[in-house]
Amino acid sequence: MSDKSLESYNKKRDFRKTPEPSGQPKSTDETLRFVIQKHDASSLHYDFRLEVDGVLKSWAVPHGPSSDPRAKRLAMPTEDHPLDYIDFEGVIPEGNYGAGTVLVWDTGTYRNLRAEKDDDALTMQESIDDGKVEVWLDGEKIRGGYALIRIGDGEKWLLIKMDDEEVNRRRNLVRSDPASVLSGRTLEEIREDETA
Ligand code: MN
Repeated sequence: MSDKSLESYNKKRDFRKTPEPSGQPKSTDETLRFVIQKHDASSLHYDFRLEVDGVLKSWAVPHGPSSDPRAKRLAMPTEDHPLDYIDFEGVIPEGNYGAGTVLVWDTGTYRNLRAEKDDDALTMQESIDDGKVEVWLDGEKIRGGYALIRIGDGEKWLLIKMDDEEVNRRRNLVRSDPASVLSGRTLEEIREDETA
């Protein structure tokens, strides 16, 4: 794990002005974690982050995850974030990179499904390089297999629910359960708390 992986993250931010964590890659135990943060920045989106080799590999998903395999959700790769970001919730002040309110929409552990295949056992980093990530998420709101697939010139990925027993074609995950799993707060309540 190289210190370079968070260079882009650290460069974009002035830690005297934003409450976000600074950080270096960290090693942890074998339990891998994920977070999905609802981020009310210049446009509302969901940041999907997976712990890989001591950092959080990140994608911005404008419409958030779906439990319907027919919904292919655009996912734009963003810079690696430090592991400490996993429970960051609060307001990034105006004038800073990513200014706006951040809410921990869901978090939990995940498994690398490609590592469990006999024929092409790939690590997470190898899966990312290959442009196809398959994970099993165990969150409080979200559960089941999800694939991230790189498309076109490599600038865009799709987040797609895999076909398994956790498929639900009727449920609108992000709409039915908007509050934080850490604090129970909505975006508005976090904004009020932090600016009071
Ligand atoms: Mn974001």
